[in-house]
Amino acid sequence: MIPNAASYRLANARIHASLTKGVAAAFDSDGFARVDISVADGKISGITAHDRSKAAADAVDVAGRIVLPCFVDCHTHIDKGHIWPRKPNPDGTFMGALNAAGADRVARWSAEDLARRMDFSLRAAYAHGTSALRTHIDSVAPQEEISWPVFETMREAWRGRIELQGACLLGIEGVRDNKWFDRLAKRVAAARGVLGVVTYMVPDLEKLLDQVFAQAIKHGLDLDFHADETDDVAATSLKKIAEAALWNGFEGKVLVGHCCSLARQPDLEVLDTLDKVAKAGLAVVSLPMCNLYLQDRRADQTTPRWRGVTLLHEMKARGIPVAVASDNTRDPFYAYGDLDMLEVYRMATRILHFDHPVADWPQAVAATPAKVMRLDGFGTLATGGDADFILFKGRSWTELLSRPESDRIVVRAGRAIDRQLPDYAELDGLMVE
Ligand SMILES: [Zn+2]
Repeated sequence: MIPNAASYRLANARIHASLTKGVAAAFDSDGFARVDISVADGKISGITAHDRSKAAADAVDVAGRIVLPCFVDCHTHIDKGHIWPRKPNPDGTFMGALNAAGADRVARWSAEDLARRMDFSLRAAYAHGTSALRTHIDSVAPQEEISWPVFETMREAWRGRIELQGACLLGIEGVRDNKWFDRLAKRVAAARGVLGVVTYMVPDLEKLLDQVFAQAIKHGLDLDFHADETDDVAATSLKKIAEAALWNGFEGKVLVGHCCSLARQPDLEVLDTLDKVAKAGLAVVSLPMCNLYLQDRRADQTTPRWRGVTLLHEMKARGIPVAVASDNTRDPFYAYGDLDMLEVYRMATRILHFDHPVADWPQAVAATPAKVMRLDGFGTLATGGDADFILFKGRSWTELLSRPESDRIVVRAGRAIDRQLPDYAELDGLMVE
């Protein structure tokens, strides 16, 4: 369907208003417009309203199928990915995940083990149509000395296919050893990474957050937090992060993931937190699949009663940039997943009600995370931009989100890529107990 040529035109493609820039076309109530997309030398050379009477003879008619820009996945853990067969979560709980993943890291995460699993994950993400991805990197000593060089090698190997970003990951208590944390921040800065920690309600949280912000300012780093991944209403570290960003006058970007407990708190508390998050300019990413899996998991095998996700609608209404992302894949934090952002969007639509209207929710898997990751030109279709897009079978939201779209066509720099997914058997050698 995509010509193997330096230049061509796709006629009659459906694009979405929220994921295009500078297109003069009539967008319908679902946000779609029918356009012709011209491609030349790996770039989009024009997007014009589709006019059947003027259709060029050499154009390929895609019959109203949806074309979206490649996805941007801003919260993943490809260093943990695919360890499930050798280290499953014994009971599906958050503590079960933490303990299992920690034990596996100590016992098994050599440079070779990491590199093979990370490459496997990136091949899947690429085949599904992702062009940029941020991964958290477990950085508890001595793992940081093994994992960061692997990350740097992987980033170079994948340059041009997936723009890879790394954020360090450690519990907030790890910051108490300020000397070590300073060294870690320096290492992260050397890798042009992002400073990340997991926050929960320790007594000295405010002081530790100040140390995190101070290191970010000192080394010129953006920040990325895991916050309040719990149903405990007393977990308010999202608010503490917003307050710390304000009183430290932080000017970098801050992304906060999870924020599950916010959905359990009383309205007045929620409003106060959201006001501060908006004022501080924080962005929030929800991880709907992991949250559904881990939150409200009950030891007595009774049925979960809530969805685990945070208040994305209320955040977006306040102008807070919101995204959804993959999080874990086939590890103790989530037994499933393949870094397919269409699956994430489909699940988010169902779990978080990204529909009726769809409005600008598609930005949550492309344009918004691209901005948070400072990636110009990613997550949007525009004339002059790279011809990186996905051609789906679906012609409407209900067609797009009802099937896996395993036969989607991913186009990079104007050419359809080989979408062969890596075979699980490739990892068998790493899974021996
Ligand atoms: Zn995470």
